[in-house]
Amino acid sequence: MKPVIYWVRRDFRIGDNAALSAACATGRPVIPVFICDEVVESHGAAPKFRLGEGVRVFGAALAVVGSRLVLRRGDALAVLREVVAQTGATGVYWNRLYDPASKARDTGVKAALKADGVEVASFTGHLLFEPWTVETKTGGFYRVFTPLWKTVRGRDVATPIPAPASVPAPDVWPTSDRLDDWALGAAMVRGRDVLAAHICVGEAAARTRLETFIEGRVQSYQTNRDLPGVDGTSRLSENLTYGEISPAVCWHAGWAAIHSGKGQAEIFCKELVWREFAYHLVHHTPHIVDRNWKEGWDSFPWNTEDTAEVIAWKQGRTGIAFVDAAMREMYVSGTMHNRGRMIVASYLTKHLMTHWKVGQAWFDDCLTDWDPASNAMGWQWAAGSGPDAAPYFRVFNPVTQLDKFDRAGLYARTWIAEGQGDAPDTALSYFDAIPKNWGLAATDQYPAPVVDMATGRQRALEAYKGRDF
Ligand code: FAD
Repeated sequence: MKPVIYWVRRDFRIGDNAALSAACATGRPVIPVFICDEVVESHGAAPKFRLGEGVRVFGAALAVVGSRLVLRRGDALAVLREVVAQTGATGVYWNRLYDPASKARDTGVKAALKADGVEVASFTGHLLFEPWTVETKTGGFYRVFTPLWKTVRGRDVATPIPAPASVPAPDVWPTSDRLDDWALGAAMVRGRDVLAAHICVGEAAARTRLETFIEGRVQSYQTNRDLPGVDGTSRLSENLTYGEISPAVCWHAGWAAIHSGKGQAEIFCKELVWREFAYHLVHHTPHIVDRNWKEGWDSFPWNTEDTAEVIAWKQGRTGIAFVDAAMREMYVSGTMHNRGRMIVASYLTKHLMTHWKVGQAWFDDCLTDWDPASNAMGWQWAAGSGPDAAPYFRVFNPVTQLDKFDRAGLYARTWIAEGQGDAPDTALSYFDAIPKNWGLAATDQYPAPVVDMATGRQRALEAYKGRDF
């Protein structure tokens, strides 16, 4: 029997995987293929490393259901055509993605394969709601979150598709590259072991993470989600971004919790819709990923250089504890608390008057939960150049923010070793992780602020004066 190719992208799961289930339902052998193409090659160091770990674990999961993950490197269309020619496959199935690079690639691949006479089918699964199914009353898309939330809050989301018990294998498997030969972690200056201690990879781990969260932390989510020193959130962003769990599985778990009396789970569902909002914006206004969403910002005199202040920001040495703790958390663990992300982004774009793209690029390189839509939206939100953004004249004060959200100093102590006689391992691990040529040691004196809070704020407010954003 002629096989069907399931083209694996950011959907490393067997349950609630529409493309995989549809391929299995054909009754033909299924060949899962992951392609290291130019979209993957363009990822930053940490996302590329983390993606590689996702590939590894997904390959093992497919083996349990009698299948394999075939790995190939090169142009996606060329590879798919090659595998079609080698196996006689009659169809190629995948789950849709929405970032501009993936969409451009997929549109071309779909047209070319169809012209070759291959059946092509794409499925939903990376989002709860397809961007074109959520419209304002006038038929447009939402530029503001709250009305979007009100529109989708009561909508039905399809029940997750059960995992197939087995995936039919072909008689002969096409050849596969070796994952280790791809060296997806090679660009990690800090070495893969630093982040390896913090990641939580694969569908089984993601489901356990969700269950643990729903059984416990969700009940205090509304308050604790804002406290960076408390383990109060789901930490599922890492898994959602690689599709190790579907948003629908998270959504249904959230609503089941609400129905069982855990009312704070609604805030969790609402946060999942922020992710949708980011993707809907990327779908309708793809320039959000690399240009000011509001054109009025194009002439703003941002700094775009790696100045001493920007380097201090990247290294977590600004002398502002909230900023430094958050930047170190990201460097060591590959993730950063949401309040930390808001603070460091505001500090860079306002106190340091540096272009949000400088910060976006550093996050692109450091985050293991890097997501092209949420990262771009988050940065433009903080800078003021994006849709539904923080008002540009609102300049977070990281000192008072730390006082408000980390009153007991837990977060700062967790990540900043200098000045602490008995610093915790987390804070010390930063000094093991950073490159030697940064020349920093835990015994250094904690730096004085590179920019005085009031001066930085005033400088930004002056620059905003008389501008039409
Ligand atoms: P929870 O609080 O448990 O929330 C559940 C899920 O909802 C998250 O996993 C995530 O998928 C979604 N979510 C929550 N908050 C947001 C938000 N503000 N925007 C979009 N989705 C959200 N998120 C990423 O997944 N990848 C990124 O690259 C990313 N970059 C960001 C950059 C900046 C400057 C800012 C301000 C925010 C960014 N976020 C990003 C959003 C947010 O910080 C993370 O999603 C969140 O911290 C993840 O932690 P969690 O999984 O424990 O979230």
